[in-house]
Amino acid sequence: MSIKLYYTSPSTTNWVTTVTSQQKEGNTYIVTLAETAFYPEGGGQPSDSGTIEGIRVIDVFEKNGEVYHRLATPVASSTVRCEIDGRRRLDHTQQHSGQHLLSAVCIDLFDAHTVGFHLGNDAVTIDLNIPSLSDEQLLAIEDRVNELIYANIPVETYYVSKEDAAALPFRKLPEVEGEIRVVEMKGVDLSVCCGTHVSITGEIGIIKLLKTEKHRGMTRLFFKCGQRALHDYRSSHTTLTTIAQHFATNRDMLANVLYKLEAENKELQKQLQQLKQTLFRIEAEKMAQQSHAAPFVLKVYDDLTLKDLQMLANEIALQHHKTAILATTVENRLVIVKSPTLNLHIGNWLKQQLQSANGKGGGNERQAQVAFPSNIELFSFINELQAEKQLMLPID
Ligand SMILES: [Zn+2]
Repeated sequence: MSIKLYYTSPSTTNWVTTVTSQQKEGNTYIVTLAETAFYPEGGGQPSDSGTIEGIRVIDVFEKNGEVYHRLATPVASSTVRCEIDGRRRLDHTQQHSGQHLLSAVCIDLFDAHTVGFHLGNDAVTIDLNIPSLSDEQLLAIEDRVNELIYANIPVETYYVSKEDAAALPFRKLPEVEGEIRVVEMKGVDLSVCCGTHVSITGEIGIIKLLKTEKHRGMTRLFFKCGQRALHDYRSSHTTLTTIAQHFATNRDMLANVLYKLEAENKELQKQLQQLKQTLFRIEAEKMAQQSHAAPFVLKVYDDLTLKDLQMLANEIALQHHKTAILATTVENRLVIVKSPTLNLHIGNWLKQQLQSANGKGGGNERQAQVAFPSNIELFSFINELQAEKQLMLPID
């Protein structure tokens, strides 16, 4: 059985040991070592990554107390140099110990019990058996956990028998056979756990609670500890500073500056719409005059959006009683709004015209629109329409 360095010597990341067995399994090789610092996945904590004699370890798992390392190629020597990713281990250790403190504080302050723990590359969460947590409660939890981190409480791990465990104040007695591994944060928490942990709570560094989500009637709490929290703070700080500098302000004033810009933008949009309405009224009048007695107008624009076309077409149809067929090369769209005096279901009519064209669209009795994949299809459709006498529209 391997000596588990991740328990006996948690700071070891680089060591030399002997290979005790090696077996081929499919395209991979399963290796056991006399001593290993590779933590196998367990207790919500992912496995360590690293190399054995320079060969990357794909997976680490535990079976009947033995630790197995999966490699893509075999090891050639019986004595091997091993190395684990120390930053990844420290990250997992900080998150895991932080989780124990967090879970203990949630019970202590709000009788909220942890029923699930997830430690992923992106997110670390616990699921609490309460429907919600207020902002004030979250703040109280965050403050209390950080106080316990600063207090540098010793963390001890030891084994007890199942009988002795019955006398200890566990929240829930574990359903395991044989010896039970206990992780104790003096005076704060007593947990059954197989994970790696800090030796004093100060090594967790910091905890930051991020958000909560509702999950199956419970509360999922997202948090970051230690270097993960530092990286998050670093990137948030850079983002905020960059945006604040761009708007020539500081972080505290940034929200106000953005609210003001948003309000100004809304006002400008309102003014723009009013100006467009005036412009389209004049344009509609001009087109109606130029079309003389024709019952419709047709025009292609290269600077109007679909929304603009709809506004203009409605002005032409409603104010000048002419059917408006307008298109734009900006979005390769075509809009038709019929004259109120025309007795025709314009959506059905357009569908018929589209049978031999490469465009998607439809509409109702009064108006319709088409989207074309490119302006080639748009112009080809318009040419076809123009080739038909009176655009096949009945004269009203
Ligand atoms: Zn644990």
